[in-house]
Amino acid sequence: MVDLKSQYEKIKEEVNASIQDVLENNTYINGPLVHQFQADLEKYLGAKHVIPCANGTDALQIAMMGLGLQPGDEVITADFTFAATVEVIALLQLTPVLVDVNMNNMNISLEGIRKAITPKTKAIVPVHLFGRAANMDAIMEIANEHNLYVIEDNAQAIGSNYTDKNGKKSKVGTIGQVAATSFFPSKNLGCYGDGGAIFTNDDNLAHIIRGIVNHGMYERYHHDVVGVNSRLDSIQAGVLKAKLPNLDAYNLARKTAAKKYNEALSVNSNIVVPSFDFNGDDHVFHQYVIRITNGKRDALLAHLQEKGIPCAIYYPIPLHSQKAYADIRYKEEDFPVTNQLCKEVIALPMHTELDDEQIKFITDTVLEFLK
Ligand SMILES: *Cc1c(COP(=O)(O)O)cnc(C)c1O
Repeated sequence: MVDLKSQYEKIKEEVNASIQDVLENNTYINGPLVHQFQADLEKYLGAKHVIPCANGTDALQIAMMGLGLQPGDEVITADFTFAATVEVIALLQLTPVLVDVNMNNMNISLEGIRKAITPKTKAIVPVHLFGRAANMDAIMEIANEHNLYVIEDNAQAIGSNYTDKNGKKSKVGTIGQVAATSFFPSKNLGCYGDGGAIFTNDDNLAHIIRGIVNHGMYERYHHDVVGVNSRLDSIQAGVLKAKLPNLDAYNLARKTAAKKYNEALSVNSNIVVPSFDFNGDDHVFHQYVIRITNGKRDALLAHLQEKGIPCAIYYPIPLHSQKAYADIRYKEEDFPVTNQLCKEVIALPMHTELDDEQIKFITDTVLEFLK
């Protein structure tokens, strides 16, 4: 699904030098590279504060802890996403409230959010799924109207731009009160292990979060709040620092590949390709996901695997149907889109090193099978 080896070859010297530097200087934890990468990312995003941490799941959890959410508070998020989002809500003994998504952008449904709001609702967690920005204008409007926090799950959309209704451009992940991202190797900005970060423009929240990631300490050995241990190590920061200047080019390469996939695949009426019809939002194609509408999705998956073409189903089971998150509050008729997507979606290989020949082989194989 991804080709990180070829990407590494192009940044090898800088990455190797960073790793060597960490080893020579024994700056494994909280070394200068962590601070440099943090500053570089703040500048790139136009965010006041980036707080690096150990992974994207921690970043989500710490963001919720930082906002002071309390057991029983309701947090609205999408039914169609990776489980990390709902997992941390449940771990903190908050009440997850799953809502359906839109068919066109596969992101959280505004109508779903509106229907789910109760007096106990405290936050909305939009996920910019597969790299496409959620409808942040409307989400912020609903949140402001009901006095709710917005925590952006930006694990799949780093570098994506959002243009609001006044024409103001910002990076996805800098619009809500706080955002979480992941630097898992296959993400658009990935390190060579685990990593994550929290972004916010709120000075006070940033201060609280800097303590939480470090055992609740604001002064050495003074534990003011219950925290966690969640750090980005210096070697990973070195990898990320070398990759960040290439992020826009990486995202452009993904977009270009997606466009080529779309051109080839849209000739078949049983394939629904992702729309390039953007309305202020932007798509950085963390995944290239199509829908197969003639019931042959699973057969296509098996066929592609047989032909040696990596592919995957993101996501095969709606969160409301997962054992860990099932709840009598959820009714099947509330999730028609997620239920349909789980049966129809398939992700094709997507990374920065895809060439025309590979795309042609993949699309020819898909079209030949669905003919
Ligand atoms: C990858 C991902 C996460 C979690 O990131 P990790 O670094 O793997 O913990 C959270 N949310 C979404 C939507 C993701 O894709």
